[in-house]
Amino acid sequence: MSIITTVVGSYPTRSYEAESFNDKITKSLGLFDPYKQSIINSVKAFVEADIDIICDGQVREDMVKIFASKINGFRIEDNTTFINGKITPAPHPISVKDFKIAFKIAHSLNSQFKLNAPLEDIFNHEAKGVKGILTGPTTLIHSSMIENFYSSRENAIYDIAKALLVEAKELEKAGACAIQIDEPFISTGVEDINVSRTGVEIISEELDIPVILHVCGDLKDVLPDLLKFNVDILDFEFSGMPQNIGALKKAWSSNINKYIGIGCVNTRLDEVDKIEDVRNTVCNVKDIIKSDKLIIDPDCGMRTLTTDLSEGKLDLLKTIKGEDI
Ligand SMILES: [Zn+2]
Repeated sequence: MSIITTVVGSYPTRSYEAESFNDKITKSLGLFDPYKQSIINSVKAFVEADIDIICDGQVREDMVKIFASKINGFRIEDNTTFINGKITPAPHPISVKDFKIAFKIAHSLNSQFKLNAPLEDIFNHEAKGVKGILTGPTTLIHSSMIENFYSSRENAIYDIAKALLVEAKELEKAGACAIQIDEPFISTGVEDINVSRTGVEIISEELDIPVILHVCGDLKDVLPDLLKFNVDILDFEFSGMPQNIGALKKAWSSNINKYIGIGCVNTRLDEVDKIEDVRNTVCNVKDIIKSDKLIIDPDCGMRTLTTDLSEGKLDLLKTIKGEDI
């Protein structure tokens, strides 16, 4: 087994204000770049960089609106998301069409891409897969204002988790090799970690394909709890948040049977990272977990970077994978 690569695909949402600002940027960029073509461009770049688990690039809308605009119980006004009723599943799949476009393009470029590619085959470099990405229950609810129906966020988190599970099952049925749940808000401590955990596990425990939980930011207060979440793969930001290596060292124990996704390329850095920095990050994490269950990826999404810079950063992953460290 040797290291495999993936991309995070999502845009990190750290505060309500930043969300509205990003929303405007995304919207204006969208005018210049048609959606389908953006998926195709993303997939081509991922395949070119020999990424083993790709996604559709998550190019349409920001990570909150893409779900809040389709799932029942939300309304969006002036780039603000409100919860105005009982949250129930979207009437139609949200991202399955984009998943299918991504798979079709990837498979046409490299026949190693297979539907529902088993993780073992991907690690053996016998297959590649496309994953589905969901914005997590805690992040979606804490990015929204409760206007009606819910007296606390806790029950809203459980209801959105049930709605997201329906979407996850559709993606699984369509051929996703894994489901990634993006929960940037967990590291902020904004929610009781046990509530966040229940929200994630409402989804993860009902799926047959591997579940990846992506949490970015400073993990020192939450990492011991995250290691107990019932998911297969934990994906963390290490390059832009090197203190997470220390937090992992403190919390890790040899009986933890999880894959670790190492965010080893800094997506906030406005230049291609130095290869020795990337290598050091990977080696430092590998020294701690002492296993081959490693996936390397950029810290977070690359939406704000230029095409050249994104490609340069993806190439770093290809180089590290080739070194088989
Ligand atoms: Zn992130």
